[in-house]
Amino acid sequence: MKTVDRILGHLVSCKDVTHLLSEREDRALTSFERIKLEWHLAVCKACMAVEKQFRVLHEAMRRYRQ
Ligand SMILES: [Zn+2]
Repeated sequence: MKTVDRILGHLVSCKDVTHLLSEREDRALTSFERIKLEWHLAVCKACMAVEKQFRVLHEAMRRYRQ
């Protein structure tokens, strides 16, 4: 990964990312928000795990609604 990407990833806080992940369940994110998520998820293992949990949850909710 390029150093600049790494720096950008760390500029986004874990709190912001968690917030964006829950927002994503309710609305479409803007392209800048999606980029911020990608930057951070590339450098933060903790948020990557949270993102995975959201995916599982999202999938479960989708099945439940059907
Ligand atoms: Zn994080």
